[in-house]
Formats: sequence, C-alpha cells, structure tokens
Amino acid sequence: MTEKRILIWYRNDLRVHDHEPLVYGLKQRAMLIPVYCFDPRQFGSTRFGFVKTGAFRAQFLLESVADLRRSLQTLGSNLIVRQGEPEVVIPALAEQLGIYAVLFHGEVTSEETRVERKLKAKLHGQGVKFKTFWGSTLYHPDNLPFAIAHIPDLFTTFRKQVEKQSTVDPALATPPQLSPLPDVDLGTIPELSDLGLEAVSPDPRGVLPFKGGETAGLARLQKYIWEGDRLKEYKETRNGMLGADYSSKFSPWLTHGCLSPRYIYQQVQEYETQRVKNKSTYWLIFELLWRDYFRFICAKHGDRVFHLSGLQGLKFPWKTDWEWVERWQTGTTGYPLVDANMRELAATGFMSNRGRQNVASFLTKNLAIDWRIGAEWFESLLIDYDVCSNWGNWNYTAGVGNDARGFRYFNIAKQSHAYDPHGDYVRHWLPELASLHEDKIHKPWSLNGNQQKQFGVILGQDYPNPIVDFWDSIKKNEKLYAS
Ligand SMILES: Cc1cc2nc3c(=O)[nH]c(=O)nc-3n(C[C@H](O)[C@H](O)[C@H](O)COP(=O)(O)OP(=O)(O)OC[C@H]3O[C@@H](n4cnc5c(N)ncnc54)[C@H](O)[C@@H]3O)c2cc1C
Repeated sequence: MTEKRILIWYRNDLRVHDHEPLVYGLKQRAMLIPVYCFDPRQFGSTRFGFVKTGAFRAQFLLESVADLRRSLQTLGSNLIVRQGEPEVVIPALAEQLGIYAVLFHGEVTSEETRVERKLKAKLHGQGVKFKTFWGSTLYHPDNLPFAIAHIPDLFTTFRKQVEKQSTVDPALATPPQLSPLPDVDLGTIPELSDLGLEAVSPDPRGVLPFKGGETAGLARLQKYIWEGDRLKEYKETRNGMLGADYSSKFSPWLTHGCLSPRYIYQQVQEYETQRVKNKSTYWLIFELLWRDYFRFICAKHGDRVFHLSGLQGLKFPWKTDWEWVERWQTGTTGYPLVDANMRELAATGFMSNRGRQNVASFLTKNLAIDWRIGAEWFESLLIDYDVCSNWGNWNYTAGVGNDARGFRYFNIAKQSHAYDPHGDYVRHWLPELASLHEDKIHKPWSLNGNQQKQFGVILGQDYPNPIVDFWDSIKKNEKLYAS
C-alpha cells in the first residue's frame, strides 16, 4: 500500500456539493474513504423518556445516507456504513485500512463535541492525524466581524453587523471524480427496525412527502425557486400553514446537510439576477441568518441552552403536569390552532414556523410547563430537528433566551384569525370541527347547547373543553415571571 489514505467521517453533512473535507482531502492527493456511522446513542431516549430520533427523522436519515452512497458511487467511490460509536468504529477502521488522517465537519453542542474529543484522543494515540472543518452555516466564523465568544446577544445587532461587514464564501464544487475504495466490507444501511423503530407511512395530509438525500433536496430547491417561481413571494406566504409552497421546506435537508446554505445563497443570487430581486429574496437569506445565529449562540454559550433557566439564567416555577403535557402532545387542549398543529407534528414530523411559535408559546406561557419537555418532544418528532435551531428557538419562545424580551406570548385567538382566517387549516387537521363556520371554528367553547347539537360538536365529547382559560393563565404566569 503506497497511496495516502484519508478517511472522511460523514455526520450532518450528507452531500457531495460544497463539502470542504472532500475538497481538502483531494488536494492532499490522497485516496478518500467516506464513512458514515449510525451511533446507537442517537437512537436512545431523551431525558424525559421520548425516543431521541423518532421514525420520521430516522427514515429521512436512512434515505439521505442511501442517496449519499449512490452519489459517491457515481463519482467512482463508495460509502462505508457501520453501526456503532464513532470513537470506536473510526479508530478501528483507521487501523484496518492504514489511514493517514481523518477529516470531518465539527459540531458545536456537547453530545457531539464529546464524541469528537474521544475520537481525537484515540486517533492521536494511534498516530493518525485529524482535521475538523466548519461547514454548516452560511457565514464562516472566520468571516464574521467578531469572534464567536463575542457574538452579540441580540439577533438584530448580530444581523446588522454581519450584513454590513461579512461576506459569504462561494459554495465548493462537487469533485468530478473520486478513486475507488480498497477491498473492505462496505456494510449495509440498516432498516428502521434495526434502529428499534417502526416504519411510518407518509400521511397524505402532510405538506410534502419529504424524501431524504441531496438529490431530493436539490430537486426541492429547483422546484420551489425555479419551476414554481415561489421565491419572489416568500415574504408574503411564509407564515402559512397549509400546502407545500408557503415556505421553502428546505429545513430537513439543511439539518442533515443534504443542502448547503451557501449553495442556497448562490441560487438566490442567481434568481435575483435572472428573475427578480425583492424583499422576499432577501427574506429567505434573513431566515438563514437566524439559523446561523442559533448555531453561533450555542457555540458561544455551551450547555446553557439546555438548562431549565436557559441562556438568560431565568428562574421560573415551571410545572411538569404530565396530564397537561399529554393533552398538548396529542392535540387535545381545546384550542383548535394549537391542536391542529400538534396533530400535524405527530402525524407527519413537520410543523410550520407559525405553528411552532404558537404551540411553544401555549405550552410555556399558558400552561407553564417545563419548556424542555416541549423541546424534547420536538427533538423526537421533527424531521428537521436541528439541535441549535430547536433549543435556541425554545429558549427564545419560553422567554429564557439571551434575546428574550420579557413575558411575550402569542394570543392564540388573534393568531388563528390572522393566519387561518377561514379555518381551512384547522378543518384539515381537526375533522371533528369541520362543520363549524369560520366565525366559530377557532372558539368552539363559545357554542351554546343548541349550536353544539346543530353542528354535531358536543364539547367534552366530540372536542375537548379548553384546558385552561386563556387570559387567566396568561395573567397568572405573567405575574410569576415578573416576580
Ligand atoms: C419552537 C421552535 C422550534 C424550532 N425547531 C427547529 C428545528 O429543530 N430545526 C429547524 O431547522 N428549525 C426549527 N425552527 C425554525 C423554523 O420553524 C423552521 O426552520 C421552519 O419552519 C422550517 O420550514 P422551512 O424550511 O419551510 O422554512 P423557511 O421559512 O422556508 O425558511 C428557510 C430556512 O431558514 C431557516 N429558518 C427559518 N426560520 C428559522 C428560525 N426561527 N430559526 C432557525 N432557522 C430558521 C431554516 O433553515 C429554514 O429551512 C423552530 C422554530 C420554533 C419556533
């Protein structure tokens, strides 16, 4: 064996476009050996006992890994797949294959960095080199006007400075060709059942039949931006809840690294040149900046994002009333907007941004439930679960985030009328309320006895009474928050 061999450890970067470890490895004139490891810890339980990676995301992940393997095969290489702890599997492979160096994208949160540290220590002991890359954000930390330790704690300050002083690096091209792998057991991609999960069939009511992988991610981008020509109206439609195209739906592919944010940025620029540049084209990038921001904030503050008192260190008498939690999870709170969104999440693994803000506000500001239960429920179910975006947004919505501005809550009734004026979204997910007219569907509790009979919606039987009084609960918790 004379050729230098470099192992590329794939993690949440399941793509061949804009992949720095691949490009860097090729520059070393080495044989690249791509590896993906299904880490059993990712399929365990959360603190509150939920499945850590539920079937929706696990299915998406399996599809993404299969797609990556096909892409690497097309380039002349392949993907080695293993099940086991990366800090055990990779050093063993390194020894077996005479690996010179291991390259990978670094993460920022503790579970992931712990694995990295253990892996590096083992590789170091074996005399194998390693190098980490930053690859998940639009802006590279090297291009920011501040060090990560000095990231402003207000998003708007962060955004304004970045927009004024930083540039986005161009996306790296996909390598034209890779060398074939040596003789090695490639390993098979597990089935859901191997991960302890049961298969879920796609729910036809869902916004999109999300399919994992770079190929499907690029196709979604092509469809949303170019064929559907929807980008030009994104700012006006992005608060929708029904249908495939009110927003980009790029999040599951971004989370798994099937789409690179820099590639999306380039496509938006291209669209601005070829078609139209307006507030909507800007706004998609603005949202990607939120994503960057949460990652940088997690890198800056470490584990505080997971603490009950949050990034702000705020004390609040959070409750763990499991009966209430279950009603929230199953979409039976008696508040139709909340219930419809929670049922969508349970049935499909997806929920709009508008929905997420409302259900998170309701859990934390009306029910005063320990917000980490909500964050973990999302972690379990979301196809697009991203540790920084999820925990960062939950901090923010629960009012414990760095950028929290006092006791802010969503007025569910007002939100329902603003974002589901005719009740179409609620009707879509709550068939038991389908007979109600738009002036009643968002407040079924206001039906009198005769109306309940007339519309076939008996409260407490066909649909629950509200779990709490909206204003009483807000007032009570606001007082507690202020004290
Ligand atoms: C409580 C709560 C939990 C959330 N958990 C996650 C999560 O685990 N993973 C996740 O990707 N997003 C999360 N979000 C953010 C947001 O809801 C989703 O990114 C968005 O709904 C995904 O749909 P989209 O791709 O069509 O978004 P679009 O509206 O098309 O936005 C484009 C992209 O911008 C990014 N983005 C948009 N809004 C946000 C935001 N508020 N924070 C961070 N990034 C954003 C996403 O990458 C998204 O794909 C959460 C929001 C809330 C309020």
